[in-house]
Amino acid sequence: MRVWRVARDVYLVDHVFAGLPGIVGTYVVVGEGGRAVLVDPGPRSSFPTVERFIEDRGLRPEAVILTHIHLDHAAAAELVAEKFDIPVYVHPRGGRHLVDPGRLCEAAKSLMSDVELVGCPRGLRGELVRETRDGEVVEVAGRRFRFIHTPGHASHHQSILLEDEGVLFVGDSMGIFYCECIVPLTPPPTRPRMIRESVEKMLGYKPRLLAYPHFGVHPDPEAAAREMLERLEKWTRFESFEKLLKSDVCARRVYECRREAPYFGGEVERSWRGLRDALREGHV
Ligand SMILES: [Zn+2]
Repeated sequence: MRVWRVARDVYLVDHVFAGLPGIVGTYVVVGEGGRAVLVDPGPRSSFPTVERFIEDRGLRPEAVILTHIHLDHAAAAELVAEKFDIPVYVHPRGGRHLVDPGRLCEAAKSLMSDVELVGCPRGLRGELVRETRDGEVVEVAGRRFRFIHTPGHASHHQSILLEDEGVLFVGDSMGIFYCECIVPLTPPPTRPRMIRESVEKMLGYKPRLLAYPHFGVHPDPEAAAREMLERLEKWTRFESFEKLLKSDVCARRVYECRREAPYFGGEVERSWRGLRDALREGHV
């Protein structure tokens, strides 16, 4: 099992999604007496890896926190929530889709041929949904989490600051940290201004570390943000995907690294197209 301790009692568990390491991870925050919080439980098919980690360490999950409800982050949420009868903290625009995931699954099917790879949720019991407020702080498992609403990658995205450690769980709101590059991967319709505003908002909380589910911890939030925002601006200037790949070593590297990964394969091109369309439509 590939597990890293990334801060005090904070672990990153690699799903080894579809046999591929370093694609999707779940963060597990541990409190006193083995109480634990799972941030982004991830796809259903690879969730048994996280389950094994929980069992091996004798942990007792007390809550699930979702950065957003895209299935590579959230498909397994209901499995752990129903099993332990624990709440799922989610942005208020995402809650109803956890209860009734029909549209979520349809959207995933339009992006991938084999949706079973991430898994379609069946629907979470409504009373387990906890919708968050922007700036709200909750204490779970003896640790303090602040919810920061960060629309952009998705309108229902939130980032979560683990206050005692300064670890910010960024989901996909700060780009994706992959193959030593930070790139602005996001599904269309793309809203660059919203993404930029959310990045500024996150930096305002002065996080010490950024925790990426794709993939790993970045020790310099300011530098990571700069890299992401520069690319967000630069990518709109290329009029063909080939030119982007030729000119931006990171676009090429991430494209090549992820090409083999099901679900994620076409993301670089889709993101570039989304940015270009946003510019054309005046969403800058
Ligand atoms: Zn993602």
